[in-house]
Amino acid sequence: MSKPDKKVLPGDFLAVPEEFLPGPNAYETEDSVRATHPGEVLRDLAKREVGVKATYVAKTPSVGDIVTGQIEVAQTSTAHMQIYYVNGAPTMGRFSSTIYMRMERGGRGVRRTNVKLGDIVRARVVSTMNGLIQLGIDEPHLGVVFALCSVCGNPLARADGRAKCEECGNVEERKFADDFGKGSVQP
Ligand SMILES: [Zn+2]
Repeated sequence: MSKPDKKVLPGDFLAVPEEFLPGPNAYETEDSVRATHPGEVLRDLAKREVGVKATYVAKTPSVGDIVTGQIEVAQTSTAHMQIYYVNGAPTMGRFSSTIYMRMERGGRGVRRTNVKLGDIVRARVVSTMNGLIQLGIDEPHLGVVFALCSVCGNPLARADGRAKCEECGNVEERKFADDFGKGSVQP
């Protein structure tokens, strides 16, 4: 195995199947090999395999930590997120947390959509009282770092404070982190 390099999240693209077979912690779809775990990309050129080295830390998130994970449930004022990274280090991925969102209203009095199911979000731990991890995303560097188009499933790109799908033209809103759409996801 080669030296680990890039950090990935579950679902991240690793290679096309013509180039590499799925190795550890990876799976193959019709047109891509993707990660099943958070961790670092490993390429075995001899076996033509690409996989993920899941380097977990058994650290419980504490107040002030920056965490990155995936939205599992999204409601109007709260969302539940599975935490994959704590301060940039992959974790056991079994921490559930809740994001409380400010009840801002966007144009025409419609409640803004801050996060959606499946989004990858960077947040700050604001409370761990009673073992419940509560998160906030009300800082420029916090919010959605990666999202897929809810119409066609392609990654969304940033355009004028909104997310636009370059495949089908669908436009969506989110509370974006300031580095949304600027290359690979930094946990
Ligand atoms: Zn689309």
